[in-house]
Amino acid sequence: MSDKRDLALAAIAPYKDAPLGHFIGAQSAAAQGTPFDVLEPGTGQVLGQCSDASEEQLNAAVAAAKEAFPGWVSTAPEQRRKILNRVADLIVENADRIAAVECLDAGQCWRFMSKAAIRGAENFRFFADRAPGAADGQSLPAKDHVNYTTRRAIGPVGVITPWNTPFMLSTWKIAPALAAGCTVVHKPAEWSPYSARLLVEIAHEAGLPAGVFNSVNGLGETTGKRLTEHPDIKAVAFVGESSTGSAIMRQGAATLKRVHFELGGKNPVVVFDDADIESAIDAAVFMIYSLNGQRCTSSSRLLVQSTIYDQFVARVAERVNNLKVGDPFDPASEVGPLIHPRHFAKVSSYMDIAREDGARIAAGGAPVEGTEGFFFKPTLFADASQSMRIAQEEIFGPVLTAIPFDDEADAIAKANDVEYGLAGYLWTSDLGRALRVSEAMEAGMVWVNSENVRHLPTPFGGVKASGIGRDGGDWSFDFYMETKNIALARGTHKVQRLGV
Ligand code: NAD
Repeated sequence: MSDKRDLALAAIAPYKDAPLGHFIGAQSAAAQGTPFDVLEPGTGQVLGQCSDASEEQLNAAVAAAKEAFPGWVSTAPEQRRKILNRVADLIVENADRIAAVECLDAGQCWRFMSKAAIRGAENFRFFADRAPGAADGQSLPAKDHVNYTTRRAIGPVGVITPWNTPFMLSTWKIAPALAAGCTVVHKPAEWSPYSARLLVEIAHEAGLPAGVFNSVNGLGETTGKRLTEHPDIKAVAFVGESSTGSAIMRQGAATLKRVHFELGGKNPVVVFDDADIESAIDAAVFMIYSLNGQRCTSSSRLLVQSTIYDQFVARVAERVNNLKVGDPFDPASEVGPLIHPRHFAKVSSYMDIAREDGARIAAGGAPVEGTEGFFFKPTLFADASQSMRIAQEEIFGPVLTAIPFDDEADAIAKANDVEYGLAGYLWTSDLGRALRVSEAMEAGMVWVNSENVRHLPTPFGGVKASGIGRDGGDWSFDFYMETKNIALARGTHKVQRLGV
């Protein structure tokens, strides 16, 4: 247990004496702005400090990315592939260190983070191996012209990521950008900045040329805002809250920024009475309480057919009361702390909101006592209705809202009755119903009789307030690249003659 914490503390030791700075053009840049604390969610202690990039530093990071772009975009894709595969190799070599840092500053449990670090490597490998084909387009012949399309990286891009699974999410955006030939300025979340620093250093150790990948720290409203407003940043890939997505769209409007948004969710898991009940319970519990409920695709609304509602909710409550909440470094822990006191206060506030709206707290509902860490008991709200705030708002904690439904039409109506539309989960043994309901769900992704199992070639993203654009497979390259059509005349058509 403590050896993993020691590993994490050793990994961040080089950045503890002074506030964590930035990584610009393959070099460390010292922090200059007013420092702010980075907390350890498991203990509540101050881990270190971080600070905003100054305007000059942000400009220097963008300038480095701009200067490196012509070289990187014209590097043979086979060479990009080699370097990015080497990044993947080094992530695997450092997987324990990375996972330990995620436990330390994001408070995520070891049992999930050890896999998340490896998934970060897979993200690099997946897009690295597709780099050689990224520019390939289509042949669209017409009578008088042969048209063909080709793709080229759009330019330097900004990548802005949240704190919930910081390392994995960073690789999910940065790997395809680099494989496509873009250069990157990354701004990780201010509450969990350390694993991003490991990533940028690993990438340079792997042979990434200077300026191709830069990392700046700081707050969203300052450093993040400047990055999204910078005229030399051609596109912004953002993962975070829906309201922040709106702000970024406004900030990027003057420079016509292309944006890709992976935003919030209030995802339903719909359980019909003909479902495999045991598996449905396993999946419902896993999809909301793993990763401390701080997961965009969490199934935070449990919609259960009224015929089995009481019995199903009682079974879930039993499991929730049994969850092992504790030290994120303990491999036995299933639920760790929330990220920050501000987020802890937000999650806590929904207990009164639930009571006032008339829901029943069937499990949890209070902070874990006797700890300085930001631990909140896994919570289940029962007898809720769709109109309640606990059914509409993204709480982003280990908190599940259970709502009964009558029939298929009612299930679809309730599943879709939120502003979000990221993921949907559906449990039934009726194939026709599975098809009808999954097609009717307003969501970017639906899993039938399954929890969220990612397959990297498939599209990932949401509809409504959950996002714009898709990642995964070739969808990522579509965002990071511009498509060009080239028309070659066969010499068979007549050009109109004017002014003769
Ligand atoms: P957040 O929006 O507060 O912050 C995300 C990032 O944006 C941080 O780096 C932050 O500093 C930056 N930021 C904040 N304001 C900014 C601004 N005005 N301009 C530029 N950058 C700014 O989100 P969070 O609280 O860190 O993360 C939780 C949210 O992320 C949840 O809503 C969750 O659903 C969402 N999320 C979505 C996905 C997905 O794939 N759809 C994945 C993970 C998390």
